[in-house]
Amino acid sequence: SEWDFTSISSDRAPMSLDTTVAHPARMYDYYLGGKDNFAADRAAADAAIAAAPDMKVTAQANRAFLGRAVRFLAQSGIKQIIDIGTGIPTAGNTHQVAQEIDPSIRVVYIDNDPMVLIHARALMEAQSQGTTTVIQADLREPRDLLSHPQVRSLIDFGEPVGVNLVAILHFIKDEEDPGKIVRTLRDALPKGSCLVISHCTLDFTEPEVGVALRAIYGKATAPLVPRAHAEILEYFDGFDLVEPGLVHLPLWRPDSIVAPSLLERVHFYAGVGRLS
Ligand code: SAH
Repeated sequence: SEWDFTSISSDRAPMSLDTTVAHPARMYDYYLGGKDNFAADRAAADAAIAAAPDMKVTAQANRAFLGRAVRFLAQSGIKQIIDIGTGIPTAGNTHQVAQEIDPSIRVVYIDNDPMVLIHARALMEAQSQGTTTVIQADLREPRDLLSHPQVRSLIDFGEPVGVNLVAILHFIKDEEDPGKIVRTLRDALPKGSCLVISHCTLDFTEPEVGVALRAIYGKATAPLVPRAHAEILEYFDGFDLVEPGLVHLPLWRPDSIVAPSLLERVHFYAGVGRLS
């Protein structure tokens, strides 16, 4: 299989591997029970869990949503997926879920964290069918990302594309204009393309929890920016939301009955939009 592992040219300094500063990808890995994290990540994650005991449940629920959404893409006939904010590989990675339904589905994984890329490359290479690529790029440079040679070689922008922005937009600050980033991606996509978003929110929690979480992630390599429903809805500008819309994450096409006790503990919204 063909694997690429290059960095794109960018004004942004390449992110280096610093294990002494907590990194959200490794904190997320820790929430999910993974081993690819360091002491600083575990300390910050434990602090986050202490402030918001629901962090682990939220991470697990988000991962489950990713699986349901990718299944939806594959079942809707999407043949190519750009998964931005790959995360450290764990159970049910995008290409596995998609290629289980249709082995010919092509997946480009994009992350800006070198450690994520090393793991993604090592762990996903063996399972790849020659249709999966991992590249280093930054969501904040959407034009560079879209014109990356590896993206261009695997993705045909004349055919519908699935774009996953799952648990990543809340790491983009308001001043970095996440709305404009998403519109730039949208404008490169043909009709029938789908946008998958999950996003942290404080709509279901007490304000104190948000203050504590912001403080903890403020010291990590990327701050956490929870957003309200109306703000996240704007990212779907130009898309038609598929049923049931932008909803409390566990309620997006659940596989089984959602316990109210789970709902209370998941602090994400999720939705999928389609370009018509
Ligand atoms: N999408 C996966 C992982 C979410 S963790 C899931 O939902 O399970 C968020 C990921 O986004 C991390 O791996 C982090 O490194 C990556 N990330 C954060 N900011 C980014 C940016 N500006 N560009 C590219 N990747 C980014």
